[in-house]
Amino acid sequence: REAQSAGATRHVPEGLPSRIQHYIDGEFVDSADGDTFDVLDPVTNETYVLAAAGKKADIDRAVAAARRAFAEGPWPRMLPRERSRVLHRIADIVESRDARLAQLESFDSGLPITQALGQARRAAENFRFFADLIVAQADDAYKVPGRQMNYVNRKPIGVAGLITPWNTPFMLESWKLGPALATGNTVVLKPAEFTPLSASLWAGIFEEAGLPKGVFNLVNGLGEDAGDALVKHPDVPLISFTGESRTGQLIFGNAAPFLKGLSMELGGKSPAVVFADADLDAAIDATIFGVFSLNGERCTAGSRILVERPIYDEFVRRYAAQADRVVVGYPHDPKTEVGALVHPEHYEKVVSYIEIGKSEARLVAGGDRPEGFETGNFVRPTVFADVAPDARIFQEEIFGPVVAITPFDTDEEALELANGVRYGLAAYVWTNDLKRAHNFSQAIEAGMVWLNSNNVRDLRTPFGGVKASGLGHEGGYRSIDFYTDQQAVHITL
Ligand code: NAD
Repeated sequence: REAQSAGATRHVPEGLPSRIQHYIDGEFVDSADGDTFDVLDPVTNETYVLAAAGKKADIDRAVAAARRAFAEGPWPRMLPRERSRVLHRIADIVESRDARLAQLESFDSGLPITQALGQARRAAENFRFFADLIVAQADDAYKVPGRQMNYVNRKPIGVAGLITPWNTPFMLESWKLGPALATGNTVVLKPAEFTPLSASLWAGIFEEAGLPKGVFNLVNGLGEDAGDALVKHPDVPLISFTGESRTGQLIFGNAAPFLKGLSMELGGKSPAVVFADADLDAAIDATIFGVFSLNGERCTAGSRILVERPIYDEFVRRYAAQADRVVVGYPHDPKTEVGALVHPEHYEKVVSYIEIGKSEARLVAGGDRPEGFETGNFVRPTVFADVAPDARIFQEEIFGPVVAITPFDTDEEALELANGVRYGLAAYVWTNDLKRAHNFSQAIEAGMVWLNSNNVRDLRTPFGGVKASGLGHEGGYRSIDFYTDQQAVHITL
């Protein structure tokens, strides 16, 4: 394992904002009550900036602006081609600033800089994709010759409330902003309070790209204040939420009296199933990447690895050795593969699971802080073997660089283990038996399956989970469906 020196612990990018504000109706503003919250840098856990702490009054103001822009502004009435041009300009600007965006995101979230760069590019791609899709969009028409004709009008819905988590903040915001704006809605974004820095950059990008005033509004703040007020606002008919399953449940309940449209992208505890006939080198590389990239703070992380008995011992030995070679380091260092976890609260949660794991299973790698990192939220990639299916580290989402490995003897047992948790977001299957690969994928309870491959996603495919991992699918036309009303017009001929 390559250790880094404890020398330059704090890398502070130039040009950080002196405070982070809301952006409402085309202007940067503080909270109505002047309240702020501390934003920490995960390498030192020191406050580096104060952000405006939005409350109901700020949400009310932002929703009113978004409503006005929807009712009176040009955005919902523009031709798809015109909106598409603005979205392409947004993508161009994001692309041209990818290094700066990555630098700020990495500083704020603790993600390794190389991976933050990939996420910035993905954000640009999300805008480009929906810019193209909205132009290519065809509406359905159905004919019964001589009798009847029917066609579908697609209409933007109104003010979309977008609530996002901290793990890949800028990219996940783009995943909602892209389709919500492409379809002609106006939006209020409530980003995660741990990582508000990159979200504050959207305002400048959108202004430069020519997005009309009031179409995009940003309110920072805590979930229970700003997020809650957005969910309960009667003039916000749509909520797209990404975050923890239990927050999703709460939001579901709070939105119910308003009968809002809801899209829920929630937690995961995704299995990677490795059969004895798999290409072992590829499976090990991919399952290492699957749980340790993005600091393990990835909703689709393959955080449980199920391994067929004949190769189990060899797999565990090689996997532990490879986990030990993963480079833990300062987020800004291009050599870093695992950076600092986002926040001391989250760090405490991950470390407490590691302690639980030590009493539940066999620790074969990591389990402590890396040498030379006395401050900040650093954890060594941690591997537990012989994990029983009723162990908490097998059942519960840890959302950090911690993986549970469990042996199995038959396909039936593998399926039972894979499906034996409350979540159902992603699954990874490694086998060279074609029939087994397809049949097993079909039987697995997961919204997305990667066969002999890793986490690369085509933007046209559905994204979402089953069971406690979410409700509704976004991605490709499904996102367009979520952000539009589809009105059927029937004509008798
Ligand atoms: P979280 O649920 O704590 O917070 C997510 C967002 O919801 C934040 O902006 C937060 O302020 C807000 N929020 C919190 N309470 C709220 C309330 N009562 N009303 C309205 N808004 C509220 O999640 P997190 O810790 O930020 O993110 C990690 C979680 O997100 C993990 O469970 C992870 O699996 C999940 N996630 C899922 C996906 C996916 O696509 N399925 C992607 C990324 C992350």
